Amino acid sequence: MTAVDLGMPRARSTGAPDTAGRPDHPGLIDRFGRVARDLRVSVTEKCSLRCTYCMPAEGLPAIARDDLLTPAEIARLVRIGVRDLGIREVRFTGGEPLMRADLAEIIGLSAEAAPGIDLSITTNGIGLDHRVRSLVDAGLTRVNISLDTVDREHFAALTRRDRLPAVFAGVAAAHAAGLTPLKLNAVMMRQTVGHAPELLAWAIANGCRLRFIEQMPLDADHAWLRENMVDAAELLEVLGTRFALTPVGRPDDPSAPAEEWLVDGGPDTVGIIASVTRSFCSACDRTRITAEGTVRSCLFGDDETDLRGLLRGGADDGEIARWWRGAMWGKQSGHGMERAGFRPPVRSMGAIGG
Ligand code: SAM
Ligand code: SF4
Repeated sequence: MTAVDLGMPRARSTGAPDTAGRPDHPGLIDRFGRVARDLRVSVTEKCSLRCTYCMPAEGLPAIARDDLLTPAEIARLVRIGVRDLGIREVRFTGGEPLMRADLAEIIGLSAEAAPGIDLSITTNGIGLDHRVRSLVDAGLTRVNISLDTVDREHFAALTRRDRLPAVFAGVAAAHAAGLTPLKLNAVMMRQTVGHAPELLAWAIANGCRLRFIEQMPLDADHAWLRENMVDAAELLEVLGTRFALTPVGRPDDPSAPAEEWLVDGGPDTVGIIASVTRSFCSACDRTRITAEGTVRSCLFGDDETDLRGLLRGGADDGEIARWWRGAMWGKQSGHGMERAGFRPPVRSMGAIGG
């Protein structure tokens, strides 16, 4: 076993993962019968913001350029994932994916490698106005923008950067490029929960679908405390002071992480991803590749399997697929936050790829 650069999770680079008991299944099945079909690929650890629930103030330690997967390597993994392992959608994340100057090339080569597959990004939106045309031309099909508050001062405090106008420009650009319906993600934080109704009103007025996310213990500063966390029940109470909310469950997809509510009778909706209080681990269908090319089967599991070494060591597609299957077979049953002695993972959210 050797360590990788960021935060030193355990990364297997020798000896294949333990696949004892694994059925002869072509896809990414795990011991609990879940099959991963949704691939998240982190493309960088760099970011234009420093959200307190994610990054340290000084940013993450830089990954050496040679340690990052190249566009061609990412596209090869996308091809293997889609063609051989049953992946049905691919989302590029980070860090901030727009910090990679070659993001259009990553998307373009991935679109060629897996024609027809849904290729999206999760972004803070900063700089999207300058890039969106080239990204859509390359094959980008959807974008999720993260926006926690529309109050400039709160935004600056939460993200440690005064960049709210740039995010608004990104939202407008995504609309103008036809990337609709545009989803907004907001992490529920104690400092901003009082402004949640204002954010929802803004999202509706600007034609966006807003989803709130419970904060998970994935901050680099390890300051998360369950008792400080704003949970779904509290958020619903706050939103209820301004809107009439009618629960509609998960109308589009019963395994989707977000539960939805109609706002003032509809058609607008608001979603809540209650990752902590109503864990959806038993329905999790995600597999993650970090920016340095390790497979991470769970946000909360530090065990990683190195595919970059295989990619660069001349392994054929079948061998890479075999290791990826093995990595996912070892996926843990859930995040384990409810267990006494729970310890957050070594990597923070920005170093995993959320
Ligand atoms: N920089 C991009 C962005 O912010 O959208 C992509 C990477 S970011 C890590 C992906 C998503 O993870 C964002 O929606 C962000 O709000 C969310 N996130 C980060 N830290 C989180 C935490 N501790 N708990 C819940 N969600 C978190
Ligand atoms: Fe950057 Fe996204 Fe993390 Fe905020 S959540 S610090 S925008 S990677």
